[in-house]
Amino acid sequence: MNRMERVDCIVIGAGVVGISIARRLALAGREVVVLEAEDAIGTHTSSRNSEVIHAGIYYPSGSLKARLCMQGLQAIYRYCAEREVAHRRCGKLIVATSEPQRRRLEAIRAQAEANGVADLQVLAGVEAKAMEPELACVAALLSPSTGIIDSHGYMLSLQGDAENRGAVIVLRSPVMSGRVTAKGIELDIGGPAPSRILARSLVNSGGLHAQRVAASIAGVPAARIPPCHYAKGNYYTLAGRSPFSRLIYPVPEPAGLGVHLTLDLAGQTRFGPDVEWVESIDYRVDPDRAEDFYRAIRTYWPDIKEGSLQPAYSGIRPKIQAIGGAARDFVIEGPRHHGVDGLVNLFGIESPGLTASLAIADYVHLVLKDR
Ligand SMILES: Cc1cc2nc3c(=O)[nH]c(=O)nc-3n(C[C@H](O)[C@H](O)[C@H](O)COP(=O)(O)OP(=O)(O)OC[C@H]3O[C@@H](n4cnc5c(N)ncnc54)[C@H](O)[C@@H]3O)c2cc1C
Repeated sequence: MNRMERVDCIVIGAGVVGISIARRLALAGREVVVLEAEDAIGTHTSSRNSEVIHAGIYYPSGSLKARLCMQGLQAIYRYCAEREVAHRRCGKLIVATSEPQRRRLEAIRAQAEANGVADLQVLAGVEAKAMEPELACVAALLSPSTGIIDSHGYMLSLQGDAENRGAVIVLRSPVMSGRVTAKGIELDIGGPAPSRILARSLVNSGGLHAQRVAASIAGVPAARIPPCHYAKGNYYTLAGRSPFSRLIYPVPEPAGLGVHLTLDLAGQTRFGPDVEWVESIDYRVDPDRAEDFYRAIRTYWPDIKEGSLQPAYSGIRPKIQAIGGAARDFVIEGPRHHGVDGLVNLFGIESPGLTASLAIADYVHLVLKDR
């Protein structure tokens, strides 16, 4: 093991959230090193999602998810325009396919309004069908400000900004353990070049492993580490041209937004994610889930053809809630919560973490600012 290096600020995890935070701290003039276990950036949740820029519709008012999504939405559109990151404000329809669902649509509209989403439009079934002729529904909500983004292009752009301001991203550098000391937080790094590093500030943005990382650092109070459960979301792609030009979402289901239709910027149609609670990280998609997808999709697109879906990819939501539990907010905690000087932990950064990434970075910067 080498002589111990000292760094102003370490960020653990080069997913979209970790890179956003590194960029923000580097822009503020801080010395930043990002430690990433894998051999590339963004290989976990950040490249295994729907790539949707969410409008802040569903989350409880005042929650971090609602606030950071709304702020993040404005920031990400501005950023994409300025930096020419590929994106499209294509809009989405949330559809009620039965009379009881019409009432749930009204509840979604009211929640969105309470969150400050000002542009939702209520549509009758025929109006929605006039926009999307293949659609079957009794009513819909149109969200014009929902969009799609090239998430990899976005991460590369953030990485470029961070590196231009001196941040360093070190790949193949898993944080194995650490300890809180009087001089800062000491980390033991594994991988091909094991080392020990002392950080004045530490941001734990380890995604699916954030709880494990926090628990491996002696001196971080166990009581401030929430549980972690994995809810896998599988995707299937549609062969051929998309019959829809907007994103189509059913009313949400527990733990997810329902098997929705999203488009990518290359014009491919994908369906998902469903919700499959799992114990470990395995991204293979079980082809036997196709029947459930056809059943869910037929409720709003009756003409989908048997055999047109192909298993595609999956992502895993880092849930704080257990199966059947109430939805939980993002947990982003600094010294005021856990008492460890210079440490910020991020837990449960599921959707809308991509949309909120720039706002999360501002939030973390503020938490660390008084350091
Ligand atoms: C199925 C699905 C669909 C989603 N759809 C959307 C969407 O449409 N819109 C939206 O806004 N959000 C969406 N999200 C949420 C969004 O993808 C996440 O919030 C976001 O990608 C989280 O980024 P992250 O950087 O926190 O995590 P990650 O991308 O998982 O990054 C964490 C990184 O930490 C690294 N790491 C872990 N442990 C260590 C260690 N010990 N040492 C060093 N490195 C370590 C990992 O290798 C990883 O690279 C979706 C999520 C899922 C699962």
